[in-house]
Amino acid sequence: MRTHARVVVIGGGVVGVSTLYHLAKKGWSDVVLVERRELTSGSTWHAAGLLPLFNMSYSVGQIHKRSVALYQTLEAETGQHVGLRQVSNIRLAMSRDRMDEYHQYAGVAETIGVEVEFLSPEQVKEIWPLCNVDGIVGAIRHPEDGYVQPADLTQALARGARNRGAEIFRQTTVAAIERKPSGEWLVRTDKGDITSEHVVSATGNFARRTGAMVGLDIPVIPVEHQYIVTEPHPAIVERQKQGLAEMGVLRESDGSWYMREEAGGLLLGPYEKGAPCCYVDGPRDDAEYELFPDDLERLTPHIEVAINRVPAFGEAGIKQVYNGAIAYTPDGSPIIGPAWGLRNFWLNEGHSFGVTAAGGAGWQLAEWIVEGEPTIDMLGVDPRRFGDYTTKGYLRAKNEEAYANVFTIHYPDEERRAGRPLRMAPCYGRMKDLGAVFGQKFGWERPNWFAPKGTAQEDHWSFRRSRWFEHVGNECRNVASNVGLLDMTAFAKARVFGPGAEAFLDHLVANRIPKKIGRVNLCHALNSRGGVHSEFTILREGPQSFYLVSAGAWQRLDHDWLLRRMPADGSVQFQNLTGAMGVLVVAGPKARQLLERISDADFSNDAFSWLTGQEIVVGMAPAKALRVNFVGELGWELHHGLEYQNHIFDVLMDAGADLGLAPFGIRAMDSMRLEKSYRLIGTELSIEYAAYESGLDRFVHPDKGDFIGRDALLAWRERGFSNTFVTLEVRDVTDADPLGNNPIYDGAGRLVGRTTGGNYGFRVEKSLALAMVRPEFSGLGTDLSMDILGERHRVTVIPESPYDPENLRLRA
Ligand SMILES: Cc1cc2nc3c(=O)[nH]c(=O)nc-3n(C[C@H](O)[C@H](O)[C@H](O)COP(=O)(O)OP(=O)(O)OC[C@H]3O[C@@H](n4cnc5c(N)ncnc54)[C@H](O)[C@@H]3O)c2cc1C
Repeated sequence: MRTHARVVVIGGGVVGVSTLYHLAKKGWSDVVLVERRELTSGSTWHAAGLLPLFNMSYSVGQIHKRSVALYQTLEAETGQHVGLRQVSNIRLAMSRDRMDEYHQYAGVAETIGVEVEFLSPEQVKEIWPLCNVDGIVGAIRHPEDGYVQPADLTQALARGARNRGAEIFRQTTVAAIERKPSGEWLVRTDKGDITSEHVVSATGNFARRTGAMVGLDIPVIPVEHQYIVTEPHPAIVERQKQGLAEMGVLRESDGSWYMREEAGGLLLGPYEKGAPCCYVDGPRDDAEYELFPDDLERLTPHIEVAINRVPAFGEAGIKQVYNGAIAYTPDGSPIIGPAWGLRNFWLNEGHSFGVTAAGGAGWQLAEWIVEGEPTIDMLGVDPRRFGDYTTKGYLRAKNEEAYANVFTIHYPDEERRAGRPLRMAPCYGRMKDLGAVFGQKFGWERPNWFAPKGTAQEDHWSFRRSRWFEHVGNECRNVASNVGLLDMTAFAKARVFGPGAEAFLDHLVANRIPKKIGRVNLCHALNSRGGVHSEFTILREGPQSFYLVSAGAWQRLDHDWLLRRMPADGSVQFQNLTGAMGVLVVAGPKARQLLERISDADFSNDAFSWLTGQEIVVGMAPAKALRVNFVGELGWELHHGLEYQNHIFDVLMDAGADLGLAPFGIRAMDSMRLEKSYRLIGTELSIEYAAYESGLDRFVHPDKGDFIGRDALLAWRERGFSNTFVTLEVRDVTDADPLGNNPIYDGAGRLVGRTTGGNYGFRVEKSLALAMVRPEFSGLGTDLSMDILGERHRVTVIPESPYDPENLRLRA
């Protein structure tokens, strides 16, 4: 047994072994893996081995693509058979909404380089003659999709890792993990202790137990998943005799199941409603190769639908049912990256498609560990996309919901219902009374839009303009002509203070730190490669004190980014104010008039100019007013102690009644920010794009002195950029605006870019998109085309900020 290693990977499932393999491949041979039983004895051995490339997430899509590419080469590299069968995969559609989903997905696939083709029902029948195509309106097919033998794949990765010097210790259980005074980890196992620089947790169903060893509440609880294997069926045996190609994987999304050939019979895996969480407190100590008793009754509705679609399935006897644990997270995507609050502790957990994801997940995590950064945008899988609201109770509700929704249509405006409402701003009830239809972000309830009196206060999801479209339009128009009220309590808020605060922040962000007290600057934290990691609005509150606001969805990520980089000498202090402060935004030409009625402060341009902040009193409540907003109108954000929120809310509503004050929601905000070409982290701003590619020139000051990512950004500029951020007007749109991830083509039909966001701009009355295109296509007036739900549209590059380009309204 080793006593020292650079990295200890805990867990010998396909995910842990892939991480070990990739670390060794990156040249770190001093790495070990510790497995409590045998390799694959957790979830990996019983996986059906399918490799679905389909995924609506940009991050997960890239990860899956990388896995399949790796699995194609592993056998040649290691000599170990992996059983890869690229038999293709067909997903059936039975409604227009489903076809819309496939078209939207095809855009994601095309922009990341995954091949997808559309099939007619007749073409489905040709490839899958045992499939009854009644009621099918179309299908998509991934030619590269298929399945692999999970245990063989794991052994191949293990061999590849060992060949590069990595070591694997089986029958070795990690019992505790401690931090040594030197900063290294002490991994205590039943066979001895290992001191290491890094620890990777890849412990599958044991994730929460492993997390508890270091004080982490990892948001993973598994759910039971079953699949059925039949005896051989004569029709399939006959096909095999004739040497016909395997029919491939068939997925009926609307029936929520997958099927493929297996040893002359069929394998059926339904994703049913009501599958319970399991191993809530982790598996038993002696668990290995564990299955649960089957529960076919739960699967009955899906089996009936499957028999209707593939009658042969009902004709063959059942040979075996597998019911195993499949790790889940609240959004169904895995958790890959650094653990929050802990240095050199890494997570590769929560994999529900772990066989599919292992290759890409191991690759990116190894890059992160060895090089300090991943190379692809990992926000969709970053462990810090969740917060401390993911308690055990929340996870039980959400993870069962995520499982039950694997095959439901993933609408862009979908807001799932489980685990809600949880985090509520005090004005939640008041907003609800005003017609708010809520969504959830980072556990917070936020009004998405407002249903006028007499209309149903319920959402309606679609890939096209939906029932809420008209009402959101009215909200935008009211903000443009009167004044609107938006609850942004979900913002992440923090105070950074102390004698070293200014120097610390100055090194952290690319913009200048506000010099004058009361001044506000928009500042971007770059990663070490010059891409954009975080965006902070920074107000200088005092000589040594700064108030930071950033995206609510990325609170843990942004705060972790700050905390990791703070000096250890105590010269900088950090205070998370997210749960203590509420934010109400008033925006619109009558915002000043409104605030003057309820506050003694001077809101004139001279006394309270754009991009400044002041401590004021609203009614009787103290508040910090920031003259900034994300919708491009005259406006203020009122940051206040949560206990004052309803007082401020009531005072505003009373005073604003005759000014046309009306609440507006996040969907109106998104439309208006598009009209101003305002970028968002996770879409226009990403580590994949240099800050200059995202058009942040006026927020980047390389001459101010050194800051994180500066030299890399300048070197990137020397090498030349591949993308330019543009604003596009989309022509001839009738009922479907771009949603992001739409492919963009030049006149010859070549892919030249992708949209990062899109929406209808109600104030400019145009369908708009923000996009990244190759620099030679970024000139103003360039005509290009774009795919929206399978239809080509002409698009034109237009100047940034089509609404009020001079910012006259903001400065009014
Ligand atoms: C019925 C079923 C079918 C599935 N089909 C598919 C499919 O077709 N395609 C697909 O992509 N995915 C599928 N999955 C999901 C897939 O099985 C998992 O996502 C994948 O196996 C997860 O791998 P892992 O390495 O994260 O976890 P695991 O394979 O569970 O490995 C974790 C390992 O960590 C070890 N460990 C835990 N704690 C410790 C400790 N303290 N010390 C040492 N070792 C420890 C465990 O013993 C275990 O071996 C299926 C799952 C089920 C249940």
